[in-house]
Amino acid sequence: MVSRVIPVDNFDLVIFGGTGDLARRKILPGLYRRFCAGQMPEDARIIGAARSDMDAAGYRQMIKEAIAEFGGPGEQSAADIDGFLAHLEYIPIDARGQAGWSDLAAIMRKDVVKAFYFSVGPGLFGDLAERLHLHGIADSDSRIVVEKPFGHDLTSAKALNATLAQHFDEGQIYRIDHYLGKETVQNLMAVRFGNILFEPLWNAQYVDHIQITVAETVGVGGRGGYYDKSGAMRDMVQNHMMQLLCLIAMEPPNRFDPDAVRDEKLKVIRALDPVEQAQIVRGQYCGDEDGPGYLEDVEDPKSKTESFIALKVGISNWRWKGTPFYLRTGKRMRARTSEIAIVFKDPPHSIFGEQEDRRGNVLVIRLQPNEGINLRVTIKEPGPGGMRLVEVPLDMSFADALGPDAHDVPDAYERLIMDVIRGNQTLFMRGDEVEAAWAWTDPIIEGWQDRGDTPRPYDAGSSGPEDSLMLLHKDGRRWREVRT
Ligand code: NAP
Repeated sequence: MVSRVIPVDNFDLVIFGGTGDLARRKILPGLYRRFCAGQMPEDARIIGAARSDMDAAGYRQMIKEAIAEFGGPGEQSAADIDGFLAHLEYIPIDARGQAGWSDLAAIMRKDVVKAFYFSVGPGLFGDLAERLHLHGIADSDSRIVVEKPFGHDLTSAKALNATLAQHFDEGQIYRIDHYLGKETVQNLMAVRFGNILFEPLWNAQYVDHIQITVAETVGVGGRGGYYDKSGAMRDMVQNHMMQLLCLIAMEPPNRFDPDAVRDEKLKVIRALDPVEQAQIVRGQYCGDEDGPGYLEDVEDPKSKTESFIALKVGISNWRWKGTPFYLRTGKRMRARTSEIAIVFKDPPHSIFGEQEDRRGNVLVIRLQPNEGINLRVTIKEPGPGGMRLVEVPLDMSFADALGPDAHDVPDAYERLIMDVIRGNQTLFMRGDEVEAAWAWTDPIIEGWQDRGDTPRPYDAGSSGPEDSLMLLHKDGRRWREVRT
């Protein structure tokens, strides 16, 4: 099966922070892959902008090296790389000063889509919005792409929304959460709303509980300074995991369009129960021969920031009342894996009598590695000897089902950038969604700050602190194993 490439309009895309880590690791290599896929209009321009003093040739060289390092698997042809680099320009600019702004104004074209990617620290988002407006560079059709973190709490998120709203309409603001750009995450919506099979069972009557796990094997590494001010709750739960939860829990939107989808997600966030501190387990990884512990990775040896969190979340609405959502995420865990598991209830009565170690139906949506969907069903164990039941997976790995081109699906960033150019906000967070997510998150964080909670230590390479196992055990449930 060959993936279709849908052409986009001609564009000028300015990447503020075009020399930074995110631009070199994700954004530019992603755009290069879109170029190779034939999706970049002939005259499209990508304009890097940062304070570093260099010309277009210097920038092209920098990005050539970035593509060599981060361009992804597959051969890179010199002709493709040169062809892509020809789209690149560079303007030295200071987000906080006057330098470079008139140069940028002079090269922007009028008759193309204009998009501005804010790939700089969040402290500069307001400055960029203001100067784009002041210098007449952005117009009412222009789009801005805003990176995470979007605020540190509700107050700062509201302030940022208000600052951006002074210069841009909500329809021009693309708040990125790259989890929404993942193929499987969109497939979750296709599975739910494109099939009659699952939706009738998708509620508290049939679903026992839901587990969402995002486990990483790496520690905070060089990002310790940033991470220690954030922690797993702000860095992962408030945004990425909240978005996954919303897509599982939301009502079917009447259309797959930006506001219909985002309205439904917002209703879920507003229906989330406050979380009691007893339903939260926080942890910090210990050091081992493979690397230092959390407290050595960050500057504060007495830090109380969590590198792991597990929590039980309830939703107060007709569909989900009584079905808990268990969320867990952490660093330096046993395996790098992200998955959502919908664990269904047992049949109300077994006509086969008691069977040992029976486990019910589970639908697993794997985000990484090996994106795919797997449904565990019960069948008869083959052979004579009576009716013994056994669980087998109905496995739909996309690569197996859709052929080798399934590996070539665009990664989250490239898909989302192309959505910006197309003007499609469906997979971007709306301002009220982000605020609602912070309104739910803030009291949880304040709760553990008020009681001076200290995270439990956990072994690197484990599934997190023992107490996180208890979170499910006391409900008569257990976590799925963290494994690749
Ligand atoms: P970074 O490596 O520190 O890069 C920052 C960029 O901003 C550089 O290009 C820097 O270039 C430019 N810059 C700094 N001050 C500036 C100013 N006053 N005017 C103009 N440009 C300025 O940061 P990053 O890791 O790429 O992160 C960028 C944004 O993406 C942040 O909001 C971050 O939270 C978010 N993010 C990053 C990642 C990631 O994996 N890296 C993942 C998710 C989200 P000069 O010093 O030359 O000006």
